[in-house]
Amino acid sequence: MKLSTRFELDAQTPWVARHNDEVREVWDSYRADRPVRVPVLFTAARTLYHERHGLDWRGYYEDPDEMIRLQLEAAKYQRELPWGDHPLGESPERWEVRVDFHPIVTAASFGCPVLFRPDAVPAHHSLGLSMEECQALETPDLLTSGLLPKHATFIAQFDQRCAAEGLRFMGKPVARFKPTIPSTGGGIFSTALDLRGPEIMSDMYEAPEFAHAFLERIAEWRIALERTWTERDGMEYPLDHPGRGEIEVTDHGIDMLSAETYETFLGSLIDRLARKYGQVPSPFFHHCGRGTHLFRAVKQRCKFDRLHALTWPLNNIGRIRAEVGYDVWITAVIADTTLQQGPEATYAAVRSFLTPEVKGSGRICVWAAGEVAGIPAASYEAFYAAVKEFGRYR
Ligand SMILES: [Zn+2]
Repeated sequence: MKLSTRFELDAQTPWVARHNDEVREVWDSYRADRPVRVPVLFTAARTLYHERHGLDWRGYYEDPDEMIRLQLEAAKYQRELPWGDHPLGESPERWEVRVDFHPIVTAASFGCPVLFRPDAVPAHHSLGLSMEECQALETPDLLTSGLLPKHATFIAQFDQRCAAEGLRFMGKPVARFKPTIPSTGGGIFSTALDLRGPEIMSDMYEAPEFAHAFLERIAEWRIALERTWTERDGMEYPLDHPGRGEIEVTDHGIDMLSAETYETFLGSLIDRLARKYGQVPSPFFHHCGRGTHLFRAVKQRCKFDRLHALTWPLNNIGRIRAEVGYDVWITAVIADTTLQQGPEATYAAVRSFLTPEVKGSGRICVWAAGEVAGIPAASYEAFYAAVKEFGRYR
């Protein structure tokens, strides 16, 4: 495996050293709840690295060595791009690599056709099963269905490189992230949409008993999948130890439900699972959709303290903060479609986003996710400059 051996910038250069000092101050003061300004999380290096080198994304999913190489090179490249609050020109104490078939593994296990694409992460088709087919559906094998054998092969090769051969990168050790749980993609409702299609929402009115039972079977299968792959890595599964785990609440697609339907079918299921396993619902809630109308109800029941990936302007983040309370930590995203419009549009968007209502007195950071192709580097530069200008507290 041919890997880079040095950074393209030097941490001792005065502007780089100043950047790194500021980054530490920004994160330290944010975590201490006395922020100097809104922090910027920047994770676009992966997409930019692929674009810079004209890479076909499919190669990453074919060869475990290429998956390791690209994760390491993108992580290093990130530390050369001065458009967020991450240190530049320094290696971490250890590099972490992960077997990554996000977000398709669960869908593939159930037989959804998957699609590897040249310019993005893979996707899958829904099955559109009838109610009878859903009822007759056998839950997939936890080790051998869909992409799981490939997932296992990649784990073995990662361990060969990292543990057996002691792979190092830029002078630091490389480790596989554990437990390596196959990506469940979205959540319980997301999987129901993958299998049954949007008809699951009609079922909620016309055949509620079916919808309840189907969602519960999916939830238990996901738990069994996580248990199997956690134990395979020699670790204890937290849900089997009351009080030590949490029931996941993140679910893509739920923004199509009314608050009442969400609570009847998913809120109640999360509560049942929490009682059954002796756990609490997770206080971490990732939501990259348009679910503004759900948060008040979910907060009442689940008491989340972190809202992750709230996208603006799809959601009114000022209103959400006022509704769920300023004690909730929010990671906000400015929509990729805004960044695609270029640096002027990005700068203007960040300026109008950072109102006093949104900034509050802290507990908010912004994330330049950069998951789509075609965003000019100048947009990230403008993004960071605008947050530095309008995101200060003192
Ligand atoms: Zn998401």
